[in-house]
Amino acid sequence: MSISDSIIQSIEKSSWIRKMFEEGTKLKEKVGAENVFDFSLGNPDLKPPSKFFSELENIAKEHKDGVHGYMPNDGFPFVKEQTAKKVSKDHNFKINENSIIMTCGAAGGLNTIFKTILNPNDEVIVIKPYFVEYGFYISNHNGKIVLVNSASDFSLNIKEIENAITDKTKAILINSPNNPTGKIYSENQIIELTTLLKKKNSEIFLISDEPYREIVYDNNEVPSILKHYDNSLIVTSYSKTLSIPGERIGYIAVNPKANDFSLLMSGLKLSNRILGFVNAPALMQRIVAKLINETVEIDIYRKRRDILVNGLKKAGYEFTIPEGAFYIFVKSPIDDIEFVNELKSYNILVVPGTGFGGKGYFRISYCVSDKTILTALPFFEQALKKYK
Ligand code: PLP
Repeated sequence: MSISDSIIQSIEKSSWIRKMFEEGTKLKEKVGAENVFDFSLGNPDLKPPSKFFSELENIAKEHKDGVHGYMPNDGFPFVKEQTAKKVSKDHNFKINENSIIMTCGAAGGLNTIFKTILNPNDEVIVIKPYFVEYGFYISNHNGKIVLVNSASDFSLNIKEIENAITDKTKAILINSPNNPTGKIYSENQIIELTTLLKKKNSEIFLISDEPYREIVYDNNEVPSILKHYDNSLIVTSYSKTLSIPGERIGYIAVNPKANDFSLLMSGLKLSNRILGFVNAPALMQRIVAKLINETVEIDIYRKRRDILVNGLKKAGYEFTIPEGAFYIFVKSPIDDIEFVNELKSYNILVVPGTGFGGKGYFRISYCVSDKTILTALPFFEQALKKYK
């Protein structure tokens, strides 16, 4: 074979995603994109805040010289300073710029972390259902993903996590608000988890992937892990909160009390560079430093969630109401892959839960207009009737 065995295996593993994407494209060609209800992608459709565009113009005008060069691999010092202020405020936990690494999105941040902390065969515990790319990010750096079931309401199952911890466990990765369930782990759950880690082995890193932290509903808040556990890292991005996933900008915030803090920061800085990211995009760093208090209009997502929740409930579907993010994880009346195919016959595209380690469910992403949701709901209802 001309390419690596492991990439061939990864292509095979992710083939269902490709297959779904290809079938979706075929369907759009056949019936016209405007007639397909595409709930499959987590690609934000809202416009970035207007300040994003005005700052883009300002920066283009103000900075004629010297803005396109290399910089420290962890980012511009003034951007790190602004980011540290944001983290201190959002997490109610004081950190300074020495804790920040600017990254190419959350994906770049996670790869930078795993490159830095993992020895071959070290284990990373991940809670099911989960963002499927985690498996690839961990194996990129010779680690092993260890999957643990969540409770029936998708909250943390502390007993299962305890049972999964071995002397090879290097990190636990959590994601709240969660993709695909929309679950937010409560402060009590974070306390239970961190109490367990302190009891078991406080050398284990707790990593919280939080790209949806600001997309929350009903006055929910996402509790911070930083004050509950020293050996902790936050990784996040502006992809969803500012609707700029193509711009590849995010950051890692490391707890100043993390074990071997200076060594960890030096490692992260080096990994960011040698993974080939070198540094986060310069222009976007300048912009996000000016937008730290901005988000897209969250109420638009809240309204869509409510339309979907009411419509799906009326149709007879079962699900846990999402508390954040822009996904709803719905119980499938039959095998999830079969039901996703059934929905396709109504020109509805959703993702089978199997793809997230959540067999028996399917994920609806509501990065689509209210009109698309409202027009699709009667078809969701018809599709379910067959099986009720
Ligand atoms: N983590 C989760 C849970 C996600 O849903 C995504 C993207 O959908 C990412 C990480 C990657 O985010 P980014 O595009 O900022 O790298």
